[in-house]
Amino acid sequence: MRYVSTRGTAPTLDFAGATLAGLAADGGLYVPESWPTLSDEQIAALAGKSYAETAATVMAPFVAGSLSEDELRALCDTAYGRFAHDAVTPLVQLDHDQWLLELFHGPTLAFKDVALQLLGLLFERFLTGTTEHLTIIGATSGDTGSAAIDAVAGRAGIDIFMLHPEGRVSEVQRRQMTTVGAPNVHNIAIRGDFDTAQALVKAMFNDAAFAGRFRLSAVNSINWARLMAQVVYYFYAAVRLGAPARAVAFSVPTGNFGDVFAGYVAARMGLPVAKLVVATNVNDILARALTTGDYSSREVVPTATPSMDIQVSSNFERLLYDLGGRDGGALATQMRGFEAERAMRLSNAQREGAAGLFVGERVDPDGMALAMRHACERAGQVIDPHTAIALAAARRHLAPDVPMMTLATAHPAKFGDAVERATGVRPSLPARVGDLFEREERCVTLDATYAAVSAHVAAHAVPRG
Ligand SMILES: *Cc1c(COP(=O)(O)O)cnc(C)c1O
Repeated sequence: MRYVSTRGTAPTLDFAGATLAGLAADGGLYVPESWPTLSDEQIAALAGKSYAETAATVMAPFVAGSLSEDELRALCDTAYGRFAHDAVTPLVQLDHDQWLLELFHGPTLAFKDVALQLLGLLFERFLTGTTEHLTIIGATSGDTGSAAIDAVAGRAGIDIFMLHPEGRVSEVQRRQMTTVGAPNVHNIAIRGDFDTAQALVKAMFNDAAFAGRFRLSAVNSINWARLMAQVVYYFYAAVRLGAPARAVAFSVPTGNFGDVFAGYVAARMGLPVAKLVVATNVNDILARALTTGDYSSREVVPTATPSMDIQVSSNFERLLYDLGGRDGGALATQMRGFEAERAMRLSNAQREGAAGLFVGERVDPDGMALAMRHACERAGQVIDPHTAIALAAARRHLAPDVPMMTLATAHPAKFGDAVERATGVRPSLPARVGDLFEREERCVTLDATYAAVSAHVAAHAVPRG
């Protein structure tokens, strides 16, 4: 399988190359040159398979040329063996036609583990036998940092430097990052806010001398391998509710459009998906774009669902590329316009293409709290605020004989205060993270200056061979 950039001019890469590169050199995102498909017989045959077997079958065409089927299967066994539930992503029935698809049974209680556990192994595999050493640098406001650190802790050939704003992540989130003892994990608390931390990371990537000394990489959801790993649970869940004989629908709490784009890929591969509900909070750029074609960025409003507090949704570019006839030149022009104006209109082809499958829904804080209460009172399910946004949106799109699955993206204990406010129930942390409060923390605190942060990274990172 070959990977092309959405902006048309970066070199075409194989799967290993696209995984290690993350972002394409022309500023675009890598996508497969064409969508592989599974026949109805192949989809039906997934019904009795384990999660790891399903993962290997669904992902095999995407990694062809870079990994053998046996290698891929072994990586899936390792990555998904670390999940606390045998089904990895179990379904929980809420009522006659609604289910929760629980994605939070990984080591850090966030759905990001599903993709990052595999990505950490892929990085290690593709570096083995080379003299390359990867320096991953990221900034986090909470969840991504802990999932990324857990995924690469102790892996050969990789160091990870994770910046977080000092005092602005929850204690659970901080401890999930700082109590990982592995020597290749470097936590940096920045005396500043998240945007400042993010700007410092960007500055290191854009510093030609710095980027020349170290092989830098990123783990945010622009990395194709992350999206690929998320396609799997759409298949795994759908066949359990009757696919391919029966069409299914999903409602997805959406921020950067990575998770719901994976649902689109599943549909392109042949899974009968009747609808993908793109659920947003009041930061509703995606709901507006899908409803009216207006993709314009406003100020970010902080909410109880921080992972959805975005005003630019990086993976939306992948959808616009695919729906716009895969014309890299035209998309590059469209995106440059957006970067200059912070606003753009979708083309007719993009709007009509999206309308067949996607529907955007904005849910306000009252709708979110109500959904949490309903799930608790009617089905005995305590759900996190992100999941509640998608559940509220799902209720607006129920159709006869189409099972609706709402993706549950975080364990409710990660957002205990908001859950308790809405339901009166305080969810407790699962036993597997139980000694979080006893473990020793490792973290340095630095001033939010480029000199301080880049010097610290340079002193602890391994230069290019
Ligand atoms: C990251 C995240 C999301 C948003 O996923 P995207 O792929 O960015 O759309 C939703 N819920 C939770 C809990 C998350 O951590």
